[in-house]
Amino acid sequence: MKISVSKNRKILSPCELKNFEYQVDPYIGCGHYCYYCYVLPQAETNWLKEIRLHHDIVARLSKEMERIPPQSINMGYHTDPYQPSEAESYQTRKVLELFLEKGFSASILTKSDLFVRDIDILKEMDDAAVSISVAFNDNQTRRLFEANTEDTEKRVEALRQLKEAGLKTGALICPVIPYITDTEQLIDLLAPCADVIWIYGLSIDNRSSQNWSNVQKILKHEFSALADQIEEAIFSKEHNFWSELRNILKKRKVNRKLNLNIHI
Ligand code: SF4
Repeated sequence: MKISVSKNRKILSPCELKNFEYQVDPYIGCGHYCYYCYVLPQAETNWLKEIRLHHDIVARLSKEMERIPPQSINMGYHTDPYQPSEAESYQTRKVLELFLEKGFSASILTKSDLFVRDIDILKEMDDAAVSISVAFNDNQTRRLFEANTEDTEKRVEALRQLKEAGLKTGALICPVIPYITDTEQLIDLLAPCADVIWIYGLSIDNRSSQNWSNVQKILKHEFSALADQIEEAIFSKEHNFWSELRNILKKRKVNRKLNLNIHI
């Protein structure tokens, strides 16, 4: 993994999500190495092979924040703020310290358990929230699709600690890969520690995308008997797989009174 420094790119940027005006990406690129990564088709860098750190992140971000009032800032919509580099470079922790000092808060999405390190800062914020993203029930399968993420159980355990600390918690079951992800089992695992759960299927724009070429290789090598069936479902939201899963999840949501947001 190549590590370089960015001196010019803006750190604070508008956020497309409806509840947030702004997002902060402490890194450009991501060392989690998810082969299906949604950023790949429009990545501004060699996304999975190069990480750029913002030079002097605190001073520069502080200046960019001068023009906006205190609010909750999204972290994790574009790149993962707790990717492996964070353990040594502390870019995300520095950003959180700055948010706290200026009266801002953070809403974080990650595939790591490293956020436990920063519970001390998150607890001091008015409305901080952390959500984890998980998609695989067993770690052998996870490693095929996400070469460098943390074990599912470790992420869930970290979320449990966060909830115990009194913080807002959430979970994304994403991406549901047809016939591979056991969504119901993941709901059972997450429900005790997530205030809210969102569920999204694997979404790939077209068959010429880089992420499809990556996923297709895994399916052909590791799931050859199911590969055609999985491909059909990935590219058709009308496929029986999705309608059946939707029905099961809707029933489960009502019967178990779960805070489930089903987007498949
Ligand atoms: S954690 Fe997110 S940004 Fe990083 S590689 Fe995985 S999908 Fe892409």
